[in-house]
Amino acid sequence: MFAGQTDFLKGVVAMSGLPPSDRLEVCFAGRSNVGKSSLINALTGRKGLARASNTPGRTQEINFFTVGEEHYLVDLPGYGYANAPVAVVEKWQKLLKQYLSGRQNLRRAFVLIDSRHGIKKVDEEILSLLDSAAVTFQVVMTKADKVKAADREAILKQVREKLAKHPAAFPEIIVTSSEKGDGIPTLRAIISTLI
Ligand code: GDP
Repeated sequence: MFAGQTDFLKGVVAMSGLPPSDRLEVCFAGRSNVGKSSLINALTGRKGLARASNTPGRTQEINFFTVGEEHYLVDLPGYGYANAPVAVVEKWQKLLKQYLSGRQNLRRAFVLIDSRHGIKKVDEEILSLLDSAAVTFQVVMTKADKVKAADREAILKQVREKLAKHPAAFPEIIVTSSEKGDGIPTLRAIISTLI
C-alpha cells in the first residue's frame, strides 16, 4: 500500500490547517533524532520524503503524507530538543493535545523509542498525553542494529514494564532498523490492517 503511493501533502501549525478527517490515518511520534524520518522513508520506500519536511523551521509542524487516495500518514513534530524555548514547547504541546484529542479518524499512534535508551522521562509525557486522549499507541523500537541482542532484551524488558502502566498502550512492541530493514515489513503490515 505504500510503494510509490506516498506524497507529502502539507505541514500544519494550527488546528485550522488540518486536512479534513475523511480518511483513516496513523501518526508517528518520537524524540528528535530517534530515527522517525528514516523510519517513514523506509516504510514508504521513498528516501528523503520525510527529511524534505524535516528542514529547520518545519520541525514544529504536523506533517501530513497522503498514501494513495484514501489514507494519511502523520508525522508529529519531534520532541525533547535540548534548548527549545519554553514558548515553542508550550505551543507544540497545545497543538499536539488538540490534534490527539479531536481526531476521529486517527487509528493508532506509533511512538518511536531508541533501542539503546528505552523509555525516558521525555517520552513518558507523550505516553500520558496519549492515555488522556484515549489514543491507542504502539511502541516501535528504532535503530535495533545499534545494540547487541542481550542489551536489546534488557531494554525491551524495561519498556514492557513501563508500558504496563499505560492504559492506552498496545502490548506488542515492534523492533525495527531502518538501516537494515528489520521489522519494516511487519510495521507496514500492521499499518495496512489499520488504515
Ligand atoms: P529524526 O530526527 O527522528 O527524524 O531522526 P532521523 O531519521 O533523522 O535519524 C537520526 C540519525 O539516526 C541519523 O543520523 C540516521 O542516519 C540515524 N538512524 C536512523 N535510523 C537508524 C537505524 O535504523 N540504524 C542506524 N544505525 N542509524 C539510524
